[in-house]
Amino acid sequence: MSNKEDEKSADELSATQEARDVLRADPLADTRELLSREVPAGVDRRHFLIRSAVGGAAAVMTGCTVSDADRTSKAAATVPPTQAAKAPPPLAADLNVVKKGAGPVLTTVDEFYKVGPGPSSSHTIGPMRITYDFYQQAAKLPADKLDKATKLQVNLFGSLSATGKGHGTERAALAGLVGKEPATVDPKFLDGLRDKPDQVFPVKLGNKSIDVSLKDVIYDATKGDFKHPNQMTVKLLAGNEVLLEQEYYSVGGGFIEWKGYTPPKKNPPKYPFRLMKELRDHADTNKTTIAKIMLANEMSITGRTEEEVYAFTDKIINAMVATVKSGLSMPEDDVLPGPIKLHSKAATVYKRAMDDKFQADRGIGALSAFALAASEENGRGHLVITAPTGGSAGVMPALVYALMEVRKLDRQKVREGMLAAAAVGYLCKHHATLSAAEGGCQAEIGVASSMAAALVATAYDAPSLVVENAAESALEHHLGMTCDPVAGYVQVPCIERCAFGAVKAWTAYQIASNEIASRHRVNLDATVAALAETAKDMNSKYKETSEAGLAVSVTLC
Ligand code: SF4
Repeated sequence: MSNKEDEKSADELSATQEARDVLRADPLADTRELLSREVPAGVDRRHFLIRSAVGGAAAVMTGCTVSDADRTSKAAATVPPTQAAKAPPPLAADLNVVKKGAGPVLTTVDEFYKVGPGPSSSHTIGPMRITYDFYQQAAKLPADKLDKATKLQVNLFGSLSATGKGHGTERAALAGLVGKEPATVDPKFLDGLRDKPDQVFPVKLGNKSIDVSLKDVIYDATKGDFKHPNQMTVKLLAGNEVLLEQEYYSVGGGFIEWKGYTPPKKNPPKYPFRLMKELRDHADTNKTTIAKIMLANEMSITGRTEEEVYAFTDKIINAMVATVKSGLSMPEDDVLPGPIKLHSKAATVYKRAMDDKFQADRGIGALSAFALAASEENGRGHLVITAPTGGSAGVMPALVYALMEVRKLDRQKVREGMLAAAAVGYLCKHHATLSAAEGGCQAEIGVASSMAAALVATAYDAPSLVVENAAESALEHHLGMTCDPVAGYVQVPCIERCAFGAVKAWTAYQIASNEIASRHRVNLDATVAALAETAKDMNSKYKETSEAGLAVSVTLC
């Protein structure tokens, strides 16, 4: 072998090793490199060999060298010029879901993506917002009434009572009463309540100070004729006399309502829509994207500027990245709070996945680990982001982390992905539910996965039909999924379920961007209607009551 050949061979070996290192550092590495061994003129030979080896490795595993950009333009070519999406089958006019979904979607990103303590948006963030709301109402009572006050009392009903203990609902409710808000509460305050449950706190109402403790939060009837399965009442009492009482509902995703609630008045959206079909029509008619339509609507409904809307999405993106990082940094032998004694696994899965021989396995393992990391943070009661709920708080962050920190995608693409994902979540909230107590796990992980598929497709500039198809696929394959948390704790099956939701979202994007888009037979509106109908028919034992499924088949010892 000549010196030159020796040098070439050594170069190739070292290039292959470096390529392995690139792939090891980046489990979702872009494998778009070409296989040609010809070094193009003007290109550094050593660099070229590294890039070729990366592509070669990927091609050996997958037989594929198509980039996401190539895939997007291929997908775009399969979108028909006029996209006549079929309307979903009509539902009976007297269904609550139909009445609720009659007007245009008016939800905004700051209502939808909420930062708060885990483990559940409906059982932790919602109740804390409720008692904080009551505390503010009570503080406004006339001084002569407040002077008589002797006691604050919270009664939890339905699913809040059935599984509230596992979610720490009583701690969240007490925190709101003492004036803590979900976005700013220090999770250590809640941990302190768990570790020292006898603590007493003074609540200042005018000149009056009332002592409250966990004893003032009562786990009441689990069954009854409730207006919503997550119902609670809060009272201010003077002995037996009721000075102020309000019945509240934690309706999912941290949203709250109360008896006599009327939605706040909002400005009309620039592009009104109540179905994905209409949203997509706006995007296609105006030759723009779903994300841009959502941005225009956010601005017209709230009066905010583009910079303000994106500043909010940035806050949420950063919080999502932080929750994954925080989860991955936990010690491998960490045990989550609660009777299951569940060991944290995110860091172990990530570490071992990175040692895997095959890049595809490293990618799936890493994405799963990101979702496990954020979901375990939820299980610890640390700060998470509802997207759409606390139980599903691992799904969107896993994809956001993969796009931002691994794929190093431009932030603007991820911002737009967040807006398209929100549109999907709004539609599910508008026509179906985000509450596991109303619709089982399909309403949490299913919606999160659907949103995440829309996020990825949008971030890769997919046409609106492909964004819809990806979101539809992800939701379709969660239909019927029940909610049966073991011991009422948002850990089993919830944490792994987030990993599956994230991987399914990626799979849905892969299918949608590789299929002939116009041949996709099911539209998102039809699948959301199916979600609503399935939620209605689902046995209540599978709606976050811990009365069936894994909650009874798993024995804790
Ligand atoms: S099973 Fe699903 S819906 Fe139920 S608490 Fe867990 S993540 Fe939420």
